[in-house]
Amino acid sequence: MLMYDSHIHLDQYTDAEIANIMPQVEGVIAVATDLNSSKRLLELRKRYPVIQIAAGFHPEQPLLSADELNALKRWIKQHRHDLSAVGEIGLPQYLRREGKVQSEEGYLNVLEELIQLAAEVDLPVALHAVYSDAETALHLLEHYKVRGHFHWFKAADATLNKVIAAGHYMSVTPDILWNDKTRRVAEQVPISQLMIETDGPWPHTGFGKSEISDMLSVIINEVTVIKKMKRDAVAHTLRMNTRTFYRLEALDENR
Ligand SMILES: [Zn+2]
Repeated sequence: MLMYDSHIHLDQYTDAEIANIMPQVEGVIAVATDLNSSKRLLELRKRYPVIQIAAGFHPEQPLLSADELNALKRWIKQHRHDLSAVGEIGLPQYLRREGKVQSEEGYLNVLEELIQLAAEVDLPVALHAVYSDAETALHLLEHYKVRGHFHWFKAADATLNKVIAAGHYMSVTPDILWNDKTRRVAEQVPISQLMIETDGPWPHTGFGKSEISDMLSVIINEVTVIKKMKRDAVAHTLRMNTRTFYRLEALDENR
């Protein structure tokens, strides 16, 4: 069964690599890092219609200016019908740890504005919000009534349970093979709220960055063991979760 990669930075691959990746999947949620990246994904989608786009601003980089934020918001509204989500958006957990966040306020404001925009244009969000940042994102999602996909999710059990109870979705990467925190997420999250992803071209030990179907397959194997389910049932459910969360059924009907 061909699967969905629910979170990949497709614009960071070469054209040849993308041509190699596309036949390996049923579809991808291609997440942007900024406006230029969103534009490149829209160009790619013209060639490969199974690319579903999340347009947004990745938080683990220097903050964008007010003008840049407005340009991004305008572009998202203009291209609403080519998009499946607002993303990747979130908070700079790793930059903060390196002491490189100058304005926590600034990042929080960008996140809030983009979640508010998602509500306005009726799209879900692809979130980079791990550990304590998940709680902050959770409050914003609740306030604006937006559905969230917490990608490569990791958090303390108390936070994890709140995200589960709120009905949001979470995804795990091939680090489920060795990372106890990721295995914990797969254990705790009901299979109905789980998706799988590579976060490519992020390097996962033992895999080439374009070996998407191999990576997805290994994650399914691990989830099968953790959930004590049949592999086919796991694969089917994970596939349907991505289609449901990103409303891909509706998109197909419109085509
Ligand atoms: Zn990402």
